[in-house]
Amino acid sequence: MATTAPASWGRYPSSHPHRLLPCRDARVPALPDEPQFCLPFGNGRSYGDICLNNGGALLLTRGMDRFIAFDPVTGLLRAEAGVLLSEILALIVPQGWFLPVTPGTQFVTLGGAVANDVHGKNHHLAGSFGGHVRAFELLCSDGSRLTCTPERNADWFRATVGGLGLTGLITWVEIQLQRIANPWIVAENRRFARLDEFLTLNAEYEARYPYTVSWIDCAARGGALGRGIYMAGMHAPPGLMKPPPSERRALTVPFAPPVSLVNNLSVRGFNWLYYHLPRPARGLTPFPPFFYPLDNLREWNRLYGRPGFFQYQCVLPPAVAREALREVLARIAASGQGSMLAVLKRFGDQASGGLLSFPRPGFTLALDFPNLGQKTLDLLESLDQVTRQAGGAVYPAKDARMSGDSFRRYFPQWVEFSRFIDPRFSSSFWRRVMKD
Ligand SMILES: Cc1cc2nc3c(=O)[nH]c(=O)nc-3n(C[C@H](O)[C@H](O)[C@H](O)COP(=O)(O)OP(=O)(O)OC[C@H]3O[C@@H](n4cnc5c(N)ncnc54)[C@H](O)[C@@H]3O)c2cc1C
Repeated sequence: MATTAPASWGRYPSSHPHRLLPCRDARVPALPDEPQFCLPFGNGRSYGDICLNNGGALLLTRGMDRFIAFDPVTGLLRAEAGVLLSEILALIVPQGWFLPVTPGTQFVTLGGAVANDVHGKNHHLAGSFGGHVRAFELLCSDGSRLTCTPERNADWFRATVGGLGLTGLITWVEIQLQRIANPWIVAENRRFARLDEFLTLNAEYEARYPYTVSWIDCAARGGALGRGIYMAGMHAPPGLMKPPPSERRALTVPFAPPVSLVNNLSVRGFNWLYYHLPRPARGLTPFPPFFYPLDNLREWNRLYGRPGFFQYQCVLPPAVAREALREVLARIAASGQGSMLAVLKRFGDQASGGLLSFPRPGFTLALDFPNLGQKTLDLLESLDQVTRQAGGAVYPAKDARMSGDSFRRYFPQWVEFSRFIDPRFSSSFWRRVMKD
């Protein structure tokens, strides 16, 4: 349990909460009778300031880590909100179940997955996490507890799914799991030489695979703009498996160097190699490296050095996505900034369950940028110009810098959402985007 000031994954901005209040077994400490605001803090896997509360109190939820009920026949699971997805997987996979939707790391809490209505590689089929939540309990600062389901207290359900931790503290969550035959994934890889090829491949692979995502070489320019690797997968059918691989020990990046190890030179070199590296076209792979390729390098965020880094994730509507993606990639390549970790995926047409949910139909691009100060902020604002003009949106869970004006354009439902904010709750993010 963290007792020092928790940070977000991007290590930017730094934040100094006034108070840290550990919650255990859904027994939540009385909220201090002080003017400062409270905010739940899960496992800090959000990149920016959505899980930060500078000057206020943080309710540390990782101590709420008990399983409450699991029915191995129906796949209905209820657990306290501080349980990690990795802990759920350890329980359910051996019994033939899997998460209905999972983000790109398994080290997020159930509460965090609901509060950001997270999405995964199967969004085109399964929608976002909130669509698989059957119920949760919301503890409000006046001590009242609401059981919310899509039918009961439905307005609070909709506000809290994707509600950025502002409507109260989620104490437990019930989700519907999906059946799997075994823990293996049938995976396919295809190299594509430009963006148009990605669009063609995507239409073909989405029809055949529940999980799809692409890595993009964001340093490539000109005719190679938008080249990358398409990755698709499905849970293996019964009987198709291999002997379990020997356990690989996770490595840890021991400390954050003064400057980022991710720079123009290392990005270009890595991306060129990654693109050209021979890889099997089709094979069987265990599920962790397929869903969570970065989880085996613990604290990899330290590679970006002490100044930390930004993530930029936008979604661009289908009708304008091709041109807008080209423009975003061209601006990044011209800037000489960019990342090794650029991913592109199509969101399907399923409506998200939350008032403020990020996923909506279109193509979503996510990239990391070392924090080089104003130069990086200028680039990200220039990407926002493209996203705003395209009628898209930026993901708050990954954001540390978008303007209030941009946020309100991306999420016009914020006015309706505001009615559900608990009067004692706030975050650094919310104060920032409501300021100007
Ligand atoms: C490597 C990596 C890959 C990722 N891939 C994806 C991806 O593919 N798709 C995706 O959608 N996201 C992705 N994310 C982002 C991550 O899934 C979300 O930010 C998630 O919400 C983090 O959960 P957390 O438990 O760490 O919560 P935190 O980051 O600590 O908090 C996130 C939000 O949840 C609120 N919250 C936490 N617990 C509670 C609670 N009990 N009650 C009410 N509110 C609560 C907080 O107040 C905050 O607003 C990725 C992150 C990383 C580091």
